[in-house]
Order: sequence, then C-alpha cells, then structure tokens
Amino acid sequence: MSARNLELKFIKKVRESKDSYSFYFTRPKDFKFNPGQYVKIFLDIKNPDKRGSSRYFTISSSPTEKDFIVITTKIIKSSFKKEFLNLIPNEKINAFGPVGYFDFNQDKDKNIVLLSGGIGITPYHSLIKFIDTKKLITNVTLIASFDFHKNIIFYEELMKIENENKLIKIIYTLTKEKREGFEKGRVNEDLLKKYIKDLKTEKFYLVGSDTFTEEIYTLLTDLEVKEENIFKEDFSGY
Ligand SMILES: Cc1cc2nc3c(=O)[nH]c(=O)nc-3n(C[C@H](O)[C@H](O)[C@H](O)COP(=O)(O)OP(=O)(O)OC[C@H]3O[C@@H](n4cnc5c(N)ncnc54)[C@H](O)[C@@H]3O)c2cc1C
Repeated sequence: MSARNLELKFIKKVRESKDSYSFYFTRPKDFKFNPGQYVKIFLDIKNPDKRGSSRYFTISSSPTEKDFIVITTKIIKSSFKKEFLNLIPNEKINAFGPVGYFDFNQDKDKNIVLLSGGIGITPYHSLIKFIDTKKLITNVTLIASFDFHKNIIFYEELMKIENENKLIKIIYTLTKEKREGFEKGRVNEDLLKKYIKDLKTEKFYLVGSDTFTEEIYTLLTDLEVKEENIFKEDFSGY
C-alpha cells in the first residue's frame, strides 16, 4: 500500500471517554491500508504552539469499513488538539499515508497477544475488527491497560465481539482503580500467566508510551519470550 497525499473530509466526532474522541473522515476512493497503519495529519493552525501543526495517528477503524476512516485520540492541551476538536462537518484536512508497518501476517500469526497502554489500543481496535469481520482463524488475547475506568475506550464494542467470537479474549486492567469485572494493576507476569497458557507459542504486540513498551519488552524477554516474537510500537508524544 503506497503512501500518498490525501484530502480527508471530516464527518463527525464521537466521544469515547472523558477526554477521548473518535474522528470520522470520508475514506478516499482506492485508499487501502493494513490494520495498524497510520497517517500523518496536517492542520492549518494560525499560531501553533511549539509542538507544531502535524501529528501521526493510527487508523483505529478496520480496512473492512469502506465508507470512513477513524482516528481516535485524547484531547489534552496542544494547539493541534484544540484545532482538531473544532473541526466542522465537511471541512477538509490534509494527510499523508498510509505509513508504518504493523507486523501482522494473517497466514502465519495464529496466536497473538495484544498489549496496550492507554490510547495505544487504537491499532488493536482496527486489527480485532478486521480479524472478526474476516472470520480469520486467529486466537487473540487483548490486555488493555488504563489508569482509571473513566478513561477506558472501546470497551462495550470489544466485549460484544468477544461474546460472539470464541477466538477473541478481551481483558481490561485498571492501574489506579479497583472495579468489579476489571483486572487491577499493571501488566505483569501474574496477569500474563493468568490468561496465556504458553508464552512461547504466542506473538506479542506492544503499543503505548515509550515507558510502557520498554517495561513490557523487558518483562517478556525476562520470561524468555524470543525477541523475534515481539513487535512494539511507541506512541511518542504523550
Ligand atoms: C506511529 C504513531 C502512531 C500514533 N497513533 C496515535 C493514536 O492513534 N492516537 C493518539 O492519540 N496518538 C497517537 N500517536 C501520538 C500522537 O502523534 C501525538 O504525539 C499525541 O497524541 C500527543 O499529542 P499532542 O502533542 O497534540 O499533545 P496532547 O495530546 O495535547 O498532550 C500530550 C502531552 O503533552 C503535553 N503538552 C501538550 N501540548 C503542550 C504544550 N504546548 N506545552 C507543553 N506541554 C504540552 C501535555 O501536557 C501532555 O502531557 C501516535 C504516534 C506515533 C509515532
């Protein structure tokens, strides 16, 4: 899928949690991408702060969703995010993509463990919807880590997929809050061993802040998971 300049028409935004939103854009004709790929978005900002006026965002929708592409992000404080939040329907923005290589091979990867920190869940949302819609024979375990319940995203939607697809297991863990139905604490050896029978037969994906991916990478290699079975992507900027 070769990258190109894109003009994306904004359709709508949907609130996902206290400060996260999914932004829907019309999918350009012939725009193909793989689950986990991302785009660079450019905004026209009059007085941008020093973080600038472009950002990378993963496409959180699935390639099987033909009418739109979705970007899911946390609105915190940058001038970029403020401008993004103020997009109005039919407004057009510039982008470039798809870029990035998310190492999922649907013919080979039959047992996968997806580990995310916070908003790092976005590529997995795309991948899980893709695997489910295409009825791929792939065993998926998602362990999504968030700090508080108020910040979790995609929960109902992914639980619905889990209920209907025996190959997909969804676990959310909260690091700063105890709550029924959720695991409590950071991703650690006990949590992995509770849900994964044999760490050696799995391919692991790690997405989140640099700190999250580094911590989990060390944990996995200490547990003798081979480096070639670990794919990691840092969402730098948080
Ligand atoms: C491959 C890749 C994929 C990515 N995919 C996604 C994705 O799907 N979703 C997503 O949300 N992000 C994604 N990111 C990260 C994204 O590109 C941004 O870096 C991130 O969202 C932070 O955005 P922001 O700089 O606008 O800061 P904000 O989100 O506004 O804030 C983030 C942090 O920066 C601080 N900050 C912000 N502005 C300022 C300022 N002016 N001065 C001082 N501190 C400030 C805030 O206090 C906060 O701690 C991805 C990054 C990469 C590299």
